[in-house]
Amino acid sequence: MPIDIDLLRRLCQAPGVPSREGAVARLVQQELGPLVDEVRSDAMGNLICTKRGQGGPRIMIAAHMDEIGFLVRFVDKNGFLRLQPVGGFDGRALFAQRVQVHTQGGALPGVLNAETKPIHLLGNEKPAAPSVESYFVDLGLPAETVAERVRVGDMVTMDRATEEIGDCVASKALDDRVGVFVMIEAVRNLRAHTAEVVAVATVQEEVGLRGAEPAGYAIEPDIAIALDITLAMDIPGSEDRDYITQLGKGTAIKVMDGSLICDPRLVEAFRTIAEKEKIAYQMEVLPFGGTDAGGIQRVRAGVPSFTLSVPTRYVHTVDEMANKGDIEAAYTLLARFLEQAQDFDVL
Ligand SMILES: [Zn+2]
Repeated sequence: MPIDIDLLRRLCQAPGVPSREGAVARLVQQELGPLVDEVRSDAMGNLICTKRGQGGPRIMIAAHMDEIGFLVRFVDKNGFLRLQPVGGFDGRALFAQRVQVHTQGGALPGVLNAETKPIHLLGNEKPAAPSVESYFVDLGLPAETVAERVRVGDMVTMDRATEEIGDCVASKALDDRVGVFVMIEAVRNLRAHTAEVVAVATVQEEVGLRGAEPAGYAIEPDIAIALDITLAMDIPGSEDRDYITQLGKGTAIKVMDGSLICDPRLVEAFRTIAEKEKIAYQMEVLPFGGTDAGGIQRVRAGVPSFTLSVPTRYVHTVDEMANKGDIEAAYTLLARFLEQAQDFDVL
């Protein structure tokens, strides 16, 4: 069955850097609202959607709504915007990109560039990769107009269309709108279940799992599952020792990353169900990085936690790329787990 590209595209195109996830939350509410029994949001801005069960475990799913981006740090005397990154950018991935500056009066298009000399002036100098701090936004407007329209703290997002490319989809924000998409589609595809499913679209993951932790504290889940992207190191220049996942080989069952070691019983449950249901999967060990599950695992007296991943190339660039079949495998496997969770000895 083809995945709902239109929904994935709308999720990816909605702007939302950490703490400014409102547009994404409205979309999630529209999509998940009709599928669940209760929707509420908490003080942090997490959107909490509950689908009641029949006495089974309470399972919290977390997918983060925020994308990496910037806040305006100051407007210089010539009308160029200087930026505060929110989330981990690689300076090499930002050069000569377009952005949207989200002001009170609406979004303004801008050009993102760094304090570098044009190639014509370099002579024999070797150009260095610009640092994230050296970037600025040019709005193509007089300084006075910029000063009137743009306020310190306005959100700046990367401007790039979400497109189908071959068997894949490429976007500025698959991290983690594809996780949000997997969460929605898993709930949509859910058949009979006894578990209470609490689907949480979280905030501020990219600045340190700040939304998921308080949500996990309030929800008190029996099991927590984060949905996020992981690195696919299957491109030119990757060595065997860098291997993590590959595109097109299925959803990734995470064993561990830098933020958590997944509960081995949950790893085994997901693997068992994937085998039984013939859902394409691969195993993932990520030596660094983290997901919302790393935060939720350690609230209160601890929560058995796990992350299901979508392998993604070019992470934290405007061309994050994932395979459509892997995305479908992710939500299918999650739905089957939610239906069968009570059969596994995790509690
Ligand atoms: Zn992420």
